[in-house]
Amino acid sequence: MTACGVCTALAEELKQAREAKEHSKAYDAAAEIRNHPHPGKTKSPESARPALQPFQVT
Ligand SMILES: [Zn+2]
Repeated sequence: MTACGVCTALAEELKQAREAKEHSKAYDAAAEIRNHPHPGKTKSPESARPALQPFQVT
């Protein structure tokens, strides 16, 4: 997991939204995590976080 406090909070929000089946909220949380800037970690954030998808494809 990330050590970023903001992303940790967003990840928790994403998890809860997913569990509550609030898909639009989950999508927003996932997008916020992707868009959260991290100095020194700027390369391909999307491929760097494969686990943080709004929906589980199972
Ligand atoms: Zn962050």
